Amino acid sequence: SQARIGLVGLGVMGANLSLNIAENGFPVAVFNRTGSVTDAFVASAGDLAERLVPAKSYEALVASLSRPRAVIIMVKAGGPVDAVIDALVPLMAPGDMIIDAGNADFHDTRRREAALRDKGLSFIGMGVSGGEEGARQGPSIMVGGNPESYAVIRDIIEAIAAKHEGVPCAAYFGPDGAGHFVKTVHNGIEYADMQMIAEVYGILRDGAGRAPAEIGTLFAAWNEGPLNSYLVDISSRVLGTLDPKTGQPIVDVIVDKAGQKGTGRWTAIEALRLGQSPSAIEAAVAARSWSAEKATRQAGKALFGDLGSEALPIPSEADLERALLAAKIIAYDQGFKILAAASAEYDWALDLASAAEVWREGCIIRSALLDDMASAIREGLPQGQLIFAPRFAGLIRDGATALRRTVAYAASAGVPVPAFANALAYFDTMRQGRGTSDLIQAQRDFFGAHGFERTDGGEGQHGPWAGSVAHS
Ligand code: NDP
Repeated sequence: SQARIGLVGLGVMGANLSLNIAENGFPVAVFNRTGSVTDAFVASAGDLAERLVPAKSYEALVASLSRPRAVIIMVKAGGPVDAVIDALVPLMAPGDMIIDAGNADFHDTRRREAALRDKGLSFIGMGVSGGEEGARQGPSIMVGGNPESYAVIRDIIEAIAAKHEGVPCAAYFGPDGAGHFVKTVHNGIEYADMQMIAEVYGILRDGAGRAPAEIGTLFAAWNEGPLNSYLVDISSRVLGTLDPKTGQPIVDVIVDKAGQKGTGRWTAIEALRLGQSPSAIEAAVAARSWSAEKATRQAGKALFGDLGSEALPIPSEADLERALLAAKIIAYDQGFKILAAASAEYDWALDLASAAEVWREGCIIRSALLDDMASAIREGLPQGQLIFAPRFAGLIRDGATALRRTVAYAASAGVPVPAFANALAYFDTMRQGRGTSDLIQAQRDFFGAHGFERTDGGEGQHGPWAGSVAHS
């Protein structure tokens, strides 16, 4: 039988995405490198099996597709994606398309798109967020590539995507790597979002001596307010969960070493390449890396554990809530600035509001705030800053005081809050009309004759440094 779309890679994401496609009424041809996985998958698909067309080879997969042929790849990022592309390309004809739905480095997507275009084929880089459940029930989908090819599969992609008030959380963002780039920044924001929640947990656990279940209850209450979001919700559930083996709170038996697959780091690296510095995201990446150094941290505890610091009063719950909200908006501000910078650099004409819109449902960073963010962006961001948007300025003004109290408390008590502290430093910098880089420019001119601009616009590109000693 003929299927409209094929999928390679029946791992966690691929299997669930295939079922989602089938459930939406589209026959889907499926292939997995290890054939037994395909058999087991189809055998467990229940009624949906009748819309699955299992293939035992790339040839059989491609032969079972109607034209133009479209094959989604959902395998591990990097070499495996190239291996699957190399297997598919000789079997395809001009007009056919390959869609990489994994988490790809967008530079790889740009390279693959150019290589396939040379062969008359289309390559679509499609970021998919929502984890296992999202893939099955409706993920958030960020598409980049040739728009004519996307038009061919758009009905399938919109059908399987999450919906926000009936509107699919799937959008086309621009050519080549645009979709994967938006997905990468989504993940960078996700790192910051998760880290900031963990920082509040740290203050409440180590500063206020609260039990996990109590913190979970507080998060559940916050989830009813402006912080309403998937990540606050699952954090609250996690904190209320007990370990079946010991009966202890599950977080107390989980080793505090964070894993990472690299997307947060990619966000920071690409941002730096673009002359941006998303401090809250960078701090979240750093916090994961530092957390991996468990043995070092334990040695550090033996050496410096009790410094006898004098802690300021612990912030109130209301302050922590407002601080989290403000810091989160600052992290998004930084994320949207990266998107704007990449769009200018790569000529993507990215619609930032559309990014906020597709993140409203289905993805890991979905939250009540995104609707307001999309509106704020559509209304126009002063200086490109989300935190300057009239919709958010009041909230930020109010939240900044709470964030400052929180960071001051954490510094005084010796509780690390890298994401909060960096969000605050960015905010304070962006509201400082006169900074301290006059001195940096003078230093640069002193040792490197780099020159400087004068505040009065007058002459004076170099300072009178030769032999100068201002202090006696
Ligand atoms: P899994 O580890 O569950 O599955 C990996 C799949 O890749 C398997 O089907 C495996 O086949 C296949 N594979 C590996 N190497 C090759 C190769 N050389 N040739 C052909 N097939 C190969 O991965 P996930 O489903 O978790 O992730 C898939 C992609 O989706 C990744 O890019 C990931 O970053 C991304 N993603 C994952 C999310 C998640 O929550 N898990 C969320 C969003 C994106 P075999 O059975 O033969 O080994």
